[in-house]
Amino acid sequence: MAETETDRSFSEWLPSQAAVRDSLRLIHIRWVAGALLPLTTVFCVHLLGLPLPELQLIALGAAILLYNIALNHLVQKAAAPQARSAIRRVQQVVILQVVLDWLSLGIFLHLTGGVVSPAIPFLLLHMLSVAILLPRRSPYLYVGLGTSVLLLVTWLEWAGVLPHYRIIPSLPPGLYRDPVYVAARLTFFTVTALVLVYLTRSITRRLRRRERHLSALLRTAQAVSSSLDLPEVLDALARQAAHALSMPKASIRLLDETGDRLAMTAAFGLSPSYLDKGPVEVSRSPLDAEALAGQPVIVREAATDPRIQYPKEVAAEGIRSILVVPIMGERRPLGVLRVYSDQPDCFTPEDAEFVTAIARQGAIAIENALAHQALREADRRRAEFMRVVTHELRSPVAGAQSLLRTLLRGLAGELTAPQRDILSRLARRLDALMALIDDLLVLAASKTVELEEPLRRLPLQPVIRQVVEALAHRAEEKQITLTVDLPPEALPIRGTEEGLARIFSNLLDNAIKYTPSGGHVCIKAAERGGQAVITVTDSGIGIPEDELPHIWDEFFRSRRVRREGIRGTGLGLSIVRQNVERFGGTIGVRSVEGEGTTFRITFPIAGPGDIEEEAESL
Ligand code: ATP
Ligand code: MG
Repeated sequence: MAETETDRSFSEWLPSQAAVRDSLRLIHIRWVAGALLPLTTVFCVHLLGLPLPELQLIALGAAILLYNIALNHLVQKAAAPQARSAIRRVQQVVILQVVLDWLSLGIFLHLTGGVVSPAIPFLLLHMLSVAILLPRRSPYLYVGLGTSVLLLVTWLEWAGVLPHYRIIPSLPPGLYRDPVYVAARLTFFTVTALVLVYLTRSITRRLRRRERHLSALLRTAQAVSSSLDLPEVLDALARQAAHALSMPKASIRLLDETGDRLAMTAAFGLSPSYLDKGPVEVSRSPLDAEALAGQPVIVREAATDPRIQYPKEVAAEGIRSILVVPIMGERRPLGVLRVYSDQPDCFTPEDAEFVTAIARQGAIAIENALAHQALREADRRRAEFMRVVTHELRSPVAGAQSLLRTLLRGLAGELTAPQRDILSRLARRLDALMALIDDLLVLAASKTVELEEPLRRLPLQPVIRQVVEALAHRAEEKQITLTVDLPPEALPIRGTEEGLARIFSNLLDNAIKYTPSGGHVCIKAAERGGQAVITVTDSGIGIPEDELPHIWDEFFRSRRVRREGIRGTGLGLSIVRQNVERFGGTIGVRSVEGEGTTFRITFPIAGPGDIEEEAESL
């Protein structure tokens, strides 16, 4: 959630909840003050024999208690949950409290002897609470106000407008009109008040900043540790860094495997065009190089700083100053965290220290997320490996089984009894091996893509020819006509030889398997509108319409093939589709039950530069 203007200006003063809490504390103190005033008066008058105006002071105590009741009511109302208006109301109530307190203090001062009053230090107490409660510069205003109240009381008594209460009989009666005494009292009072307010303000400001930093760190810790998903962790980190400094924009760039390029991986508040400005090369960006060496860097004015690699884009984004801190992993720098401001010279070394602490927390979360990602990847690869290997093992084993059956049936000549026995045992072993492979296939079933062999630009025709060659004998066995129609010019696409072979061998295997003897199968490739289009057509059993949407599902086999006992695992087409998609292609199917099936694949034709582009974008 973005911070609003009101929130921000107010966060420089007091969060509303804290102001309510402080107001309540002040009210609490006032209950004590209001009750103590009459009691102390009675004590001073009757036990100490001081000539205090008893009735007036008791009335003042009662007045304090009365207006405190009203204030209490107002604060409770202001503390209602509608945040924004509550902030303003709390502010108004605080000011009202201060005004009423000054009025009472003025009266109290007058009743206890004016400028000669021994109760003058009470004014300092009030200033202390004001310094803690009120906005940055106003406490000084209140010091002025306090001095004025004292001055006003002194002057009114001096001029005889107000009577002077002489409460310490041993002091000279005209002391309150002695210019030297009055000047000394006022000066010392003002200086003490100013120093007190200054010290209190600087301490509370520092404490508040710490509190803000602490809560920002806490929020960051919560946000980044709530997920193991890398993009989520990075987004949370960028957002928290910007919020913690009340800045509009932040970004995270992580080093790629080359260690020389920083790719934008998360951003907060930045425009899409700025995000598109491409990767930053560390060797050409002294700013990032400095940060990656472990030092936070502050750019005071982005427009004139020679270390900026993309000055035009930075200016267009309205960025004036930048704070760059390293995200240091346990063994190596992982990247950089940047916070941007639209004002020049916005960051202090203290901010840098603070954002570094945020980045340190982020680094732990990033490393956890990376480890999690690596584990998942390893898991995925293992499952994929298992699946591919087991699936590929089936064909040779099935081939060996079929050869053995041919031998056992005596089609390759009569067998002696011992030979038949050995071959039968071999056949049983192979059956067991096949069952094991099938079980492994079931175990390895998971949504995975092919082992990440890098994609290359390669022509389709040689792969298709090889696959056709390998399956030709099976077509022949079944007396199926296998036609191949390939264009003379090369059809290059982005893929892997193994992946393409897997696609075509599975499709042709199906076409031959699900076409009865005497049928025909055709594989055709052509170029159409920048696409390589490959079709595998057969005149086979076809697929019922209601089953068509399911043929891509793992382990799906149509009712008919299961009924007729045609062997298969139902994994071939899901492997085909995964490979086609990985190579940027599409696959579709049209089938009429009893008439035949056509699979149609399209791949974008790969230009000579495609692979290099891919390598660069990595
Ligand atoms: P394998 O994993 O050994 O390839 P399979 O051939 O049964 O087993 P898939 O290739 O995924 O598995 O095919 C899934 C199902 O789709 C098949 O069982 C079959 O019912 C149907 N099918 C696929 N290709 C054809 C086709 N050319 N003609 C008719 N049905 C087909
Ligand atoms: Mg198949």
